[in-house]
Amino acid sequence: MKIISSKTCVKFEESGPENPNRALLINRGYCSSHIGKKARGGIQYVSVGDGCSQLGNVIHELLHCLGIMHSMSRYDRDKFLKINYESMDDTDRLNYDYYDSTESIQAVPFEYGSAMTYSSNSIAQPRNEQYLYTMGNRRTTFYDIYALYTAYQCSCPSKIDCKNGGVPNAADCTVCFCPDGFGGKFCEDAPNFSKTLMAEAEWAEFSTSFGYDGLSEWEFKDFTIFIEAPKDKTIQVILSRMDNFGCLVRCSWNGVEIKHMGDPRITNPLICCTDHSLFNSTVTSKLNPTPVILYTRGSKQEITLKYRFIDRNLADLPKTNNSFDSFEYPL
Ligand SMILES: [Zn+2]
Repeated sequence: MKIISSKTCVKFEESGPENPNRALLINRGYCSSHIGKKARGGIQYVSVGDGCSQLGNVIHELLHCLGIMHSMSRYDRDKFLKINYESMDDTDRLNYDYYDSTESIQAVPFEYGSAMTYSSNSIAQPRNEQYLYTMGNRRTTFYDIYALYTAYQCSCPSKIDCKNGGVPNAADCTVCFCPDGFGGKFCEDAPNFSKTLMAEAEWAEFSTSFGYDGLSEWEFKDFTIFIEAPKDKTIQVILSRMDNFGCLVRCSWNGVEIKHMGDPRITNPLICCTDHSLFNSTVTSKLNPTPVILYTRGSKQEITLKYRFIDRNLADLPKTNNSFDSFEYPL
């Protein structure tokens, strides 16, 4: 709840039987919640007990409770997912049900890495195969939280100048709420727990380990490698070594995200397997700085990165936006 209330205008208050319409967090041994407040009123049960093996599962249910649906239920989902209707049973139909624009509001773009997306499985596969291991990951994304700004009309009275897609934080309007990989008051800086590297024209190499032997947590820890270059240059990265990663559907224990796509807010493909097409290949970033986010909740991983800049000015790229708000980024 603190994760949500420290970044939005949503506040949680304890209440008892005097409030017959309260949400009641209970342990039914599985993870579930209705979507939004039930129309007929009454207690809204949110089961977030033993069945929730990750913090992200609890946040998933709390977001349902606050009215956020599954990504697979978005009316634009067929652009992003291949849905196999033949392999669905009745429960699947409920979870993969699709709401049209008269029944739902979409405030943020479709995001494979959203905490509201299920893992790729026999029913739903990503159209973009780079996201095969990203779906169902259960990190809570910037867009997961930002969707609440529209749903609950969160805003700040005076605008501050947030960079890299950040927005004034509705829980504290003097600072920005930053996309993953960015930090500081205005999202211009490296986040906490990071290492800043300055790229040169020649390839340089950086190796690091993160996590520790025996680590087994329900919450992900992030470490960001924040690669900077002169403003008129373009950064390139090669993830050339990955040791001791769990190569699993949804990269559920650890992984690497090279934030290189134009939109600094969206989750990029997660890499936890060496057969991923972004492993050991040159990734040309549309972001300067380029954050490379390492995350883990299990054991210790090691990576090697190569990085440099090339003589291309990102400012020359045409601009676009996510079609949900006016923030512009390189196409
Ligand atoms: Zn759900």
